[in-house]
Amino acid sequence: MPVTRRLDLDDNESVWAVTARPVDPLPPLRGDVRADVVVIGAGFTGISTAYHLSQRYPDRKVVVLEAKRVGNGASGRNGAMALHWINGVEVRDADRARALYAVTTETLDWIKRVGVEHNFPVRFRANGCLEVVTHAERAEAAHEHAERLASWGLPIRFLQGAALAEKLRAQGAVGATFDPTTGQLHGLDLLHGLRGVLLGRGVDIYEGTPVVRIDEGREHVVSTPHGTVRAPALVLATNGYTPALGYFRGGVIPLHSHCVATEPLPLARWQELGWGDVAAFSDDLDRIAYASLTEDGRLLFGGGGNGAYSYYYGGRTATPRPPEREWAFVQRVLARYFPGAKDVRIAQRWTGTLGVTLSRVCSMGVMGEHRNVYYALGYSGHGVVLANLAGRVLCDLYSDHHEPWQSMPFYQAPLWGIPPEPFRWVGYHAFTALTGRSPRRNEARDALVRRR
Ligand SMILES: Cc1cc2nc3c(=O)[nH]c(=O)nc-3n(C[C@H](O)[C@H](O)[C@H](O)COP(=O)(O)OP(=O)(O)OC[C@H]3O[C@@H](n4cnc5c(N)ncnc54)[C@H](O)[C@@H]3O)c2cc1C
Repeated sequence: MPVTRRLDLDDNESVWAVTARPVDPLPPLRGDVRADVVVIGAGFTGISTAYHLSQRYPDRKVVVLEAKRVGNGASGRNGAMALHWINGVEVRDADRARALYAVTTETLDWIKRVGVEHNFPVRFRANGCLEVVTHAERAEAAHEHAERLASWGLPIRFLQGAALAEKLRAQGAVGATFDPTTGQLHGLDLLHGLRGVLLGRGVDIYEGTPVVRIDEGREHVVSTPHGTVRAPALVLATNGYTPALGYFRGGVIPLHSHCVATEPLPLARWQELGWGDVAAFSDDLDRIAYASLTEDGRLLFGGGGNGAYSYYYGGRTATPRPPEREWAFVQRVLARYFPGAKDVRIAQRWTGTLGVTLSRVCSMGVMGEHRNVYYALGYSGHGVVLANLAGRVLCDLYSDHHEPWQSMPFYQAPLWGIPPEPFRWVGYHAFTALTGRSPRRNEARDALVRRR
């Protein structure tokens, strides 16, 4: 029976936390309650699942348990790029490409629409994201790929020269794939707005309520420090924190991405420094760099090399020390892309926990002796859209309506292959130091072969 390890959760100090419209904390669970569904975790996965369940089943009781605050995890501290595609899945034919693109389009449209429908504001910068290419050879391949996607009817373009410069002048960028339907989402706007909708529908959300033990059964008993929830259905919506709950220890690792954000500058100043008409960009390197400009002129920057990501022994889900070295590394990458911004003051520094799988493909499904433990996790850094999609998927699986999702790569995708400690820690550090890449299924073996 799974029992949690020591909980290891830090507070959200990201640029999104600083710029969010404040909401009052919700009281923790005290006492013993019953529900039809208990959801653990109040990020995009948990809140979107509670949203769809409470919409489809207005008479059923849904309870959400959140260790800290709504949006305290990755959903409230990410790079904010709301993107298409499913990480880890290559698209090789038109039908597959259109089907995957359609699924993420529906979720992007939902993200853009739901605030309007329920009358709450969501900041979404809809001027598209770029995937920057930093090497001429890769630019050729990316160009061909973009043209193939465009020939299949998808609105993707490859930009170079003046067309790229209009959007971004980043040092070392030789081209970029642009998708105008993507953008930057203020995740806490969405979550805080949905929180209000859920409370209005009678969903109980308990903040400051860490789950410390789960006793699975036909009726689960979920224990927290001052109360329990008994429910016949359980949703694990804890992404990178899930192994600490005793699930998917061999399938997902909590990887930490360190970020910085500058002080706000006028947009005209960012144009001089190289930022034009685009919401965000990521680059084409294995340990990607990503950057995003907020509507009030703060540049968020993360990633860019081994030094920007950390794995801590035992799968710890918070940094054991202030990651000064890692933040300094990220600042250097920011200055490499935008040399003129070297002296712009950094106003926020934070770290977020990703849930990474070896194949990079996420998984959504149902498991357990009584087929009543629902899960969606392992978005591997691409969860802004996918974790919001998860709510629809899990609501369908709860309704025993599997058919729409069975052809999707994430449907019940097996998660496996991550060795236990100490092999995991040693393997991660050896692999990243030797290759400059992060471990992927088959890549460890391929890298060894290449080195021979
Ligand atoms: C720095 C960073 C940058 C990123 N950039 C992007 C990006 O630009 N684009 C993109 O698509 N994706 C990005 N991602 C990934 C994306 O943010 C995540 O995939 C997504 O937010 C996951 O949502 P979630 O709800 O599943 O998990 P989370 O948002 O992590 O939510 C899990 C929640 O569970 C709670 N919890 C954990 N344990 C317990 C417990 N025992 N009891 C109760 N509650 C618990 C946590 O407090 C947390 O609130 C980024 C992630 C990070 C960290």
